[in-house]
Amino acid sequence: MSEDRIENKSRRSFVGAAAVAGIGVAALAPGLKLIEVAGAAQRAPGEPASSAVRWGMLIDTSKCASGCDACVKACALENGINETVTDARQGSQWIRKIDLKDPKTGQEHSLPMLCQHCEHPPCVDVCPTGASMKRADGIVLVDRHICIGCRYCMMACPYKARSLVHMPLTEQNPLVPRGQGCVEACTFCVHRVDRGQQPACVEACPEKAMLFGNLNDPNSEIAQRIAKEKTTQVRADLKLNLGVRYQGI
Ligand code: SF4
Ligand code: SF4
Repeated sequence: MSEDRIENKSRRSFVGAAAVAGIGVAALAPGLKLIEVAGAAQRAPGEPASSAVRWGMLIDTSKCASGCDACVKACALENGINETVTDARQGSQWIRKIDLKDPKTGQEHSLPMLCQHCEHPPCVDVCPTGASMKRADGIVLVDRHICIGCRYCMMACPYKARSLVHMPLTEQNPLVPRGQGCVEACTFCVHRVDRGQQPACVEACPEKAMLFGNLNDPNSEIAQRIAKEKTTQVRADLKLNLGVRYQGI
């Protein structure tokens, strides 16, 4: 899929409202200024996302406590994930906590797992309709108006990051498109990011274990930490170049 097509679809579905992001505070026109947020290259309202930015997340597992699910709760609240399912396997799961134990050392870790916003996303490759897409700034999304619920992308995702909505939904956030019969996953809270805010999980983490920012900006905190400290991509052998990085595992 061409970058233009991706961007057009992305804008149609997700960027109807003004988009704000960027570097520094720059005067655009009389009375109009860009705001510095999260180390991203700022853009004016209505301007498309740009590959000058690659949004990413760094999760420090040494700060992440087993049993804490503040990020999961914040995600559900923000994105209108409030349906009751009788079979837990059918629940939507944009972010989940997982506990790991190294069988050799006995060392334990607890960490949030979410869509890794792959640079080379297998979900996008297999989608027959183009509903799965990657924005120019690296955020991987599903256009619910095009998704036919075939679930190819769910099978292709190595991280089990996607789920299908099985039932009618109520009390939704109008900024977050969801719908019965569509596949969905973490959007990095694109509706918040496009307004210059942090994803809800990042904001809610009581330990400040999650850091969000522009991987392409060498001056951003996330880029500097990744340059300095040892970080891990889950299943790095797949060479998907993930937007989500972990520290401490
Ligand atoms: S983690 Fe899964 S859903 Fe997310 S971009 Fe990668 S393949 Fe797609
Ligand atoms: S379920 Fe939807 S997003 Fe996933 S592959 Fe099928 S059409 Fe594409």
